[in-house]
Amino acid sequence: MGKGMLMEPGPVVYFEGNYVPVEEAKVSIMTHAFNYGTGLFEGIRGYYSADEDNILVFRLPEHVDRLVRNFNIMCMEIPETPEDIANICVELIKRSGFREGVYIRPLCYKSELSLGPRLSGVESRFCCYIIKLGEYCDIESGLDVVVSSWRRLSDNAIPSRAKSTGSYINSSLAATEANLAGFDEAIFLREDGSVAEGSAMNMFMVLNGQLITTPPTADILVGITRNTVIELARNELGLDVVERPIARTELYVCDEVFFCGTGAQVAPVRSVDRRVIGEGKPGPVSRKLQDLYFRVVMGKVDTYRSWCTPVY
Ligand code: PMP
Repeated sequence: MGKGMLMEPGPVVYFEGNYVPVEEAKVSIMTHAFNYGTGLFEGIRGYYSADEDNILVFRLPEHVDRLVRNFNIMCMEIPETPEDIANICVELIKRSGFREGVYIRPLCYKSELSLGPRLSGVESRFCCYIIKLGEYCDIESGLDVVVSSWRRLSDNAIPSRAKSTGSYINSSLAATEANLAGFDEAIFLREDGSVAEGSAMNMFMVLNGQLITTPPTADILVGITRNTVIELARNELGLDVVERPIARTELYVCDEVFFCGTGAQVAPVRSVDRRVIGEGKPGPVSRKLQDLYFRVVMGKVDTYRSWCTPVY
């Protein structure tokens, strides 16, 4: 990517309790979240199904659930209920009239104009916007990735599981370093040297017939795509899925590596630190999971149809 993603937003956003034109949704420079990074957000995809002429929002309740659970980390309270949040996400797409892939960004932030980095007793608000979004990274040929010199934030510093706005400085540092060095993406190690995740995506490897990913205690954001991949791999492909710490050099000797996330979807990796992985192209397990994932998000697999919320 290198440059920031160009965005075409929906014309209407949700801001301070109302639907307003995107140009009108502005916050003060004194806003707590602007000064201290005290926001919590989600990223959700809606897939356009030409067959149904509808947009299907993928795992909307799970995203809302993760967001509101994280309120407890950040001592947040907002007037909107989880049902309101889900309805606002759908309503914004309806109001845009878009008939293509969209990305929904619900954001709770410490809205008070107050000085001092603290969390409790600081007022929060909820806002939400949507943009059009296609591919976020190359998912066809395989990514060239590099282990970052930046360490993943530890749970006792800034918890990755919270998906807080401020924590994305860490992601930005790693992604920037990787891009400036000519790589597509970064892999974060933890303070103990074991693997955590990508800059904005989780990671899996295939080794000795197992599909292995780092556990929820490994300073990762516990991705909804990750959970989806685990479920599909176990139930549909009969794979042995293991959550355990991963050492850096296991990535050099394994058969396949892939990233996954709402933005990245299922993105195979072809090299790590200039070492070719497997055959240097997306491996069979990555391919199978990618195919299945796209059929599921497009509402084509009955068993998982309930993961898709139709908009129109
Ligand atoms: N890790 C990080 C740091 C992320 O930003 C994301 C993207 N939200 C993920 C993992 C993947 O999470 P999800 O599958 O829920 O999008």
